[in-house]
Amino acid sequence: MRGTVLYGPHDVRFEDCPDPKIIQPTDAIIRMSATCVCGSDLWPYRGAQPITEPTPMGHEYCGIVEEVGRAVTSVRPGQFVIGSFATSDNTCPNCQYGYQSSCMHREFITRAQAPVLRVPLADGTLVPTSGVPSNDLLPSLLTTSDVLGTGWFAADAANVKPGSTVVVVGDGAVGLLGILSAKQMGAGRIIAISRHEKRQKLAREFGATDIVTERGDEGVARIKELTRGIGADSVLECVGTQESMKQAIRATRPGGYTSFVGVPHGVELDGQELFFAHVRLHGGPAPVRRYLPKLIDLVLNGKISPGKVFDLTLPLDQVAEGYRAMDERRAIKTLLRP
Ligand SMILES: [Zn+2]
Ligand SMILES: [Zn+2]
Repeated sequence: MRGTVLYGPHDVRFEDCPDPKIIQPTDAIIRMSATCVCGSDLWPYRGAQPITEPTPMGHEYCGIVEEVGRAVTSVRPGQFVIGSFATSDNTCPNCQYGYQSSCMHREFITRAQAPVLRVPLADGTLVPTSGVPSNDLLPSLLTTSDVLGTGWFAADAANVKPGSTVVVVGDGAVGLLGILSAKQMGAGRIIAISRHEKRQKLAREFGATDIVTERGDEGVARIKELTRGIGADSVLECVGTQESMKQAIRATRPGGYTSFVGVPHGVELDGQELFFAHVRLHGGPAPVRRYLPKLIDLVLNGKISPGKVFDLTLPLDQVAEGYRAMDERRAIKTLLRP
């Protein structure tokens, strides 16, 4: 088969790769129904994260099970399944606490921008649906594999409750779905930080009540103006830069919560500032597996349409254009169809 490989900055190729096969008895092989490009794929694509050898890409996936190893009991060939970008046994102590993305046997999925994928720890990683869902639901279902699960974790880790005042830093797909998640959790007010008209529109559609276009200190001042001078109850940091992290912490009221789900690049925190900020910090790679059953239900019941973050759909073999469009911010998120 052919799969996606990153060779260096701005050099993505769709080329011959070995066919995935069962290696461990706990593996499953799935045929992809849809996959996509992630905002986090742009870090190595832009050279912000050096790569030393050709690197297979992709970690968001859903599809039909083709084959399972002899130890797999909870999924079977023919079923439609969705899994997290981090595999999990779903039984170890970290999994039982709900932190499946820190599973003691975790592996990261890295070859999903391809027509076929091997998923280790299939029983603990994959969630099957009761039937094969219709095509129009695929984009929304695919988001549960990472971006929606990550946005949901951002809102959960920031302790969003009914009536909360929420700020979302970052207008990428994760930030936008953080807004949707906060809305689902009953937030009273949701302030989105965005300068981009198309993204502002989607932010409002997902539940944002206010838009702030300023960044840095000005952005913090604007948020304070909107929140009786104290800052927000919950701030979701969905970017991963020094500026966005600082803005998130400074926009949180004393006693409030800052969550961070953007993979940090060059972020350093000042101990004294943190000490006097009086905020609770919680973040990391989202334990998507914890939320998958609930999020799949919300999509299948028509309660949410997170698939709207995909504003570009391409055949899988045009994956390089999918990266380019996101890099140039022509697309929020690219869906790839094998
Ligand atoms: Zn991702
Ligand atoms: Zn585990």
